[in-house]
Formats: sequence, structure tokens, C-alpha cells
Amino acid sequence: MDRITVFDTTLRDGAQMEGVTFSLEDKREIISLLDNIGVDFIEGGMPASNPTDRELFSTRTELKNSKMVAFGSTRKPGVKAEKDANMKALAESCADWVCIFGKAWDFHVTEVLKITKEENLELIRDSVSFLIGKGKHVIFDAEHFFDGYASDRDYAVSVVRTASEAGAEWVTLCDSNGGSLPSAVSDAVTETLLETSANLGIHCHNDSDLAVACTLAAVDAGAEMVQVTVNGFGERCGNANMCSVLPDLVLKMGCEVSADITQLTQISHAVSEIANMTHNSFMPYVGSKSFTHKGGMHIDAMLKNTETYEHVSPESVGNHRNILVSEMSGKAGIVKKLEEMGIEPTENHVSAILSKIKELEGHGYQFEAADASLELLIRKICGVRKTPFEIPGFRIYIDEIGDNEIKSEASVKVIDADGNMEHTASDGDGPVDAINNALKKALAKFFPKIDELRLIDYKVRVLDERAATAAPVRVMIRTTDGKSKWTTVGVSTNVIEASLIALVDSMEYAVSKDSWTV
Ligand SMILES: [Zn+2]
Repeated sequence: MDRITVFDTTLRDGAQMEGVTFSLEDKREIISLLDNIGVDFIEGGMPASNPTDRELFSTRTELKNSKMVAFGSTRKPGVKAEKDANMKALAESCADWVCIFGKAWDFHVTEVLKITKEENLELIRDSVSFLIGKGKHVIFDAEHFFDGYASDRDYAVSVVRTASEAGAEWVTLCDSNGGSLPSAVSDAVTETLLETSANLGIHCHNDSDLAVACTLAAVDAGAEMVQVTVNGFGERCGNANMCSVLPDLVLKMGCEVSADITQLTQISHAVSEIANMTHNSFMPYVGSKSFTHKGGMHIDAMLKNTETYEHVSPESVGNHRNILVSEMSGKAGIVKKLEEMGIEPTENHVSAILSKIKELEGHGYQFEAADASLELLIRKICGVRKTPFEIPGFRIYIDEIGDNEIKSEASVKVIDADGNMEHTASDGDGPVDAINNALKKALAKFFPKIDELRLIDYKVRVLDERAATAAPVRVMIRTTDGKSKWTTVGVSTNVIEASLIALVDSMEYAVSKDSWTV
């Protein structure tokens, strides 16, 4: 079984993605996540390029499993390595491993660096030797290797040979423009292995949507290190996605990696959170929809054997299966849902739930994404829902307070299960915000955990556009308590009422869910 080395570059190449910036604290958090799952190398950044990375590499990061890598370029032409600022920063960094990149495409050598091809080789040789002389282990990234290979094959290979002979322990072939096809990558890796003794790595960008495919093709041809980023973060269209590459290697190609792939779903979500990016729910393996089944016939087959519509088990990557309940999925889906909730399915309950869902879907409700509202509905029909509070009344005032400024204020009455009443008022940015604030304020008196709730998404959809203002609207609200997330739904011709229904469901779910056993 091939042992493939995993090199993560989320903090360096991944941070090049538009909209992503990592503070020092963010970087430390991600390093600890990556160390926990056990990747071999963590490229932390460029100590010569910015204060955050300089600080990161100014002290040793103690890790359980991984090795930290500092990144930088080869020395500049015409400057001695020991006088080059970047070389010095790498030599002085606290990382034992450094990764330097150099040009492997003759076009870049003569057009960008404006030096001869021989001078470029000298510069690579010199930079690698200098860093080894300073006690570092060196990884050399051959930038634009595949474009270089297409343009001047022998020169591209001689770049790899030069770095390897100078002492680089790994030479990474980079598809820097992300334009190569897997077949070309495979051929170039095979040939380079025949002509050099380098240990090869692969680094692919996703501009042709082939970064994962090219990475696997390179491994198939003999590369033994993959450079990847969590969620495929990276410049332009991103890099090869670790969350796909690792399961493909382990589950499909029979390779061995040090990283624990059963933690991929968790790390994928955590890194999105830290980067403040919405997690892509359709991502293979780790997305919330990757193992979600909707069609009735699919579900029927799924319940007989999960392999009928799943290429791997969700647990193998730390994900879980979801069965959507809609008119399409029929009885089998409801039975499965009840089992998931720990409720014994009876014939009566199943048909009562089905007909209620049908009725509500006819009014514009949609439960496929509204997991929490669905669960409340099912518990109510099965008689296993205790209502923790009731809202006997609410009021909303919208006032114009001069200069076109609109003020929204809401007051709400809440009664808990023991009959205690709380009456509060609150203002907000708009009527929905005001009612949310007032509800939270009142309920927090009875249920302190309400204070931890945060709305993370609020969507309104007009269901019959032709009916204009009298049209029913569907409001979907996504809420978190910092530990889990859930979605609720409300439908009404009045957007405030629809919002209130979804808000009340969300808060009831929040205060009830921990008391449910499953
Ligand atoms: Zn890159």
C-alpha cells in the first residue's frame, strides 16, 4: 500500500483566495486542527512577506503530529543567498522545514526573471544549498512545471534534477495556472521519475475544475506527496481540495495517509467558520448535502441497502446521512425519520404525519430544509412534544420619528409551562428584528440559553408573485446556539407573522432539543 505524504497549504496558498484573511489567532487555531487530524506538513505562511507570518515563525509551534513549514522564493538574481532578505527570513525562522519555489518554465525565466536558463538553475542550486547549510530540510516547489514541460521538456526536468541533487528532500511539480489535463500530468510525472531521483510531490490549481483529478493522476503515476488545502481554498478557483483528495486516495485508491479522514467533515466546517465563509453544502464527501437523499424511489432503495445510492459510507469521512421528507419521499422516508428521532413508527402516526405535511406543503410550507420545524411537527403529531411556552399576544409599532427615520418596536407576552407570564418590549432594526429581540428578552427569563441564540440566515420568498402584496410568503430562519444549527419555516400572507412562526419554532426547538433523548 502506498504511503502518501499530506502537505497542507491552507494557510499560505489557501489564504490567497479572495475574501479570505487569517489573523495570527486564526492561523494558530487552524494549525491545531490540522495537527489533530495528523497531516504531515503544515505550510504556515511566508515569514519574509508580512508581520503575521513573521510572528508565527518567530517561536516554535509545538505540534503532536505535524511539521511546520515556512514558505518563500529562491534568492533573487544577482544577490548572494546570505544577503537575500527572503533567504535570511527562512534561515532564521523557527521551522525546521522550508519550502521554496523557483521557476520551471523557460518562458518565465527569460520573460519575467530576465535571466538565462543556466542562471536560473544556479539560483535554485544556490538557494537549496544555502538553506541546507543553515540546518533546514528543504522542499522545492517547481512553479509552472507542467507548462514548462510542454514548452521545453528537458529544461523543466533539469530544474527538478537540480533541486533534488542540491539536496531538496521533495520536489513538488506545480500546475500553477491550473490548466493541465490529468493525462498530461500523468505522463510528465512518469517521465520525470524515469529521469531524476527526486521524491515528487504534486500541487494543482483548479482553474479547469481538475485539481483533484490531476492530483490523483500524479499519485497514480508515482508522486508521493500531495499539496492540498482545506475546502479547496486558494487563488482564483482554488487548489486541490484536501476534503476530496484524501478520501479518494484512501477509500478509492487504497493509499495510506497519516491524516484521520473521519475528521474531515468537522475540519471542513471549522475552517469555513474561521475564514467566515459560508460552507458549501454541495461539496463532495463533507457537504451537508453529500449524503442527502430526496427522491422517493431512491429512499426506498436506500432503506433496503445504503450502497444503492452511496459511493462510500458517510461515517467514513465523519459525515452523516440525511433523508429529506417531502411529498416525493412517501412513507419510507417518514419511517426512517421517526427511527432517527428515536420514535417507534406506527401506521397511524406515519399516515397522520404524511397528510399533515401534504396539507402544509399545499399552503407553501417546505420541510426539506426546515429540519427543526419538521421535528417539532412530528413530535406534536406523535404526542411526544411538551410545549415549553406559549405566546398569547404580541404587538408591533412602526413610527416615523422625523427625517424619514423609521423606528420599530415590539412587545410580546410569553407564558411558560407553569403559567408564569412575562411581558416585555424591545426595539430593533425593522419589525422582525424588534420581535426577535422582544421574544428573546421575554424567554431568557425562563430559559437562559436563549441568550446564546444567533440568527445566521433569514430568507423570505414570495410564493405567488402575481398576487403582489397579498401573496403568501415563506420565511426560512437558520439559527445557531454555537454548537449546532437548525432551520425553521413559517408561511403567512403577512411577512411578520410568517417570521414570528419561524422564530417561535426556532426558540422552542432550542429550549427543547437537549431534553429529547435521540
Ligand atoms: Zn499554488
